[in-house]
Amino acid sequence: MTQGVEARAARLWDVALALHRKPELAYEEHFAAGLLSGELERAGFTVNRGIADMPTAFVAEAGDGARPRVALLLEYDALPGLGHACGHNLIAAAGLGAALSLHGALLEAAPGLAGTVMVVGTPAEEGGGGKVAQVAAGVFDEVDAALMFHPGVNNWAWAPLTAQVQLRAVFHGRAAHPTGNPTESVDALAALIQLFGTLNVLQRRLDPGAHIQGIITDGGRATNIVPERAEGLFGLRATTTSALDALVTEVVRCAEGTAAATGTTVETSRATTGYHHFRDNDVLSDRFASHLRTGGFTLGQPTPGVFLGSSDIGDVSAAVPSIHPFVAILGPEHSDHTPEFADAAAGETARRVMLASARALACTAADCLGEAGLTERAWKRQREKAAAHV
Ligand SMILES: [Zn+2]
Repeated sequence: MTQGVEARAARLWDVALALHRKPELAYEEHFAAGLLSGELERAGFTVNRGIADMPTAFVAEAGDGARPRVALLLEYDALPGLGHACGHNLIAAAGLGAALSLHGALLEAAPGLAGTVMVVGTPAEEGGGGKVAQVAAGVFDEVDAALMFHPGVNNWAWAPLTAQVQLRAVFHGRAAHPTGNPTESVDALAALIQLFGTLNVLQRRLDPGAHIQGIITDGGRATNIVPERAEGLFGLRATTTSALDALVTEVVRCAEGTAAATGTTVETSRATTGYHHFRDNDVLSDRFASHLRTGGFTLGQPTPGVFLGSSDIGDVSAAVPSIHPFVAILGPEHSDHTPEFADAAAGETARRVMLASARALACTAADCLGEAGLTERAWKRQREKAAAHV
């Protein structure tokens, strides 16, 4: 498997650099989707483009069509104004390398390997969440292992990605002239501002990793009218999807209590479908880490109590056994989503990390297709974690 990546190393790095030179934003990744799906098609994969109503999504497939079915996930969108400052060019090249190597081994009828290798081109990780639409469209229904790596500033076997959703709260009051007939007024904006105060109290007793961030999206029309409508948008995060559901319930109760106290009415609704938290499948992520160690990179555990943002890999991981390790291309004193990270994503360390990750992904995927009982163990772990809501 490692020779398969070795033989393709120069081409994979060319692909990573080509994506880096031509960064494309969410849902506009036409060059990237074309380049990657073209490479797979030429190697003999069957490619379906425009998956889940997204022109830049694709699914490529090779093998005997049977289970086990292992999926390599390719992200390839960039950031506005910053280019590949999240290093998705490396995710795409590594996943491509792993898929081509595994396919090569299947073609050569490597002993004991059987099943299906799938490559999922997943647009819009940075905004929109292409994987959420793909999960909903059933792309992962028959998948036994969803594999990817992410470049970062830490070497972590898994990613502590939180669950998130946006909640809208619309307060309704009664308009009136603020000096002409103030006793007739019911100030919807005052109620919304009151809710911010109440949520500040709630925020103090939230668990680490949980968070509320609100903005006012409608605060009235003119200063000589008491606002009859006010709307706030609240970004909610929690370490698990079930903790997030509980937080939504609490915030709704705060809004309803505020409405009761201020004589307004309030409507609350989820403004986004949100993301699940990331459920690491350690049967598979341990395997990736051990293969990566052979390649010279050692992964540890995330720092306890440190949580990152959210990602649409969370929704994949809620559905099927998944991995999302971080491999550092810069030190922990740096950050992704910065110009320096974008530079690093085309540097020598990035090249070595991408190739080592491609090898480790290929070996992990080969284990899934060749080692009796491995995907069954991964599914057992998946069910245990789902039952425990972690
Ligand atoms: Zn990213």
